Amino acid sequence: MTDPAPETQERPASLARHPARIVTRPVMRFQERIYLIEVWHGLVITSRHFFVNLWRHTRRAIGLVARAGAVTIQYPDDPAVVAKRGRTRHRLMKREDGTPRCVACMMCETVCPAKCIKIVAEESPDVMIEKRAKIFDIDMGLCVFCGYCVEACPEDAIRMDTGQVEMSSFNRQDMVWNMQELLGNKKKDPAANVPRL
Ligand code: SF4
Ligand code: SF4
Repeated sequence: MTDPAPETQERPASLARHPARIVTRPVMRFQERIYLIEVWHGLVITSRHFFVNLWRHTRRAIGLVARAGAVTIQYPDDPAVVAKRGRTRHRLMKREDGTPRCVACMMCETVCPAKCIKIVAEESPDVMIEKRAKIFDIDMGLCVFCGYCVEACPEDAIRMDTGQVEMSSFNRQDMVWNMQELLGNKKKDPAANVPRL
């Protein structure tokens, strides 16, 4: 049986120059502790937004103003609008002759913090290119969409600009996108494996 852990431990020497900062929690006032007044405040704010937006939508409907009030996107009936600079589903880029630009340098696989890229390299038939990817898989179920793979790539072979954010699936295996799917040569259809009830 191992000895119980000591009650006090010395701070590591590396932290000696960074003393712990003690943050005191603010003391709640009586009206905050009984909650009712705060709940009432919340209802007032919600109601104000509701009636202000109702007024703006009504004015727009009768043609008084061009600008509408706040709009709730009716997803999934309306597609999700993603900012152009947002990092979305990856794609692999091709050269002019249609071959993948990836030279299997493993930079993206190495830098990936989620370890969700799997590359197997093989010799390239092109004497000017040393290697190419034989297998290039990305597990979207593990990816954290940090974009490091795009930043690390020396060949501009991988981008995250498809605008696609809907990659849900009924099983984990379908979350893995292979090279042909990432190149756009093969369409991925997660709905194909929907379990029949
Ligand atoms: S976006 Fe980040 S987590 Fe996802 S594959 Fe690229 S490096 Fe890995
Ligand atoms: S960093 Fe670029 S070239 Fe290198 S393996 Fe990844 S995608 Fe291919």
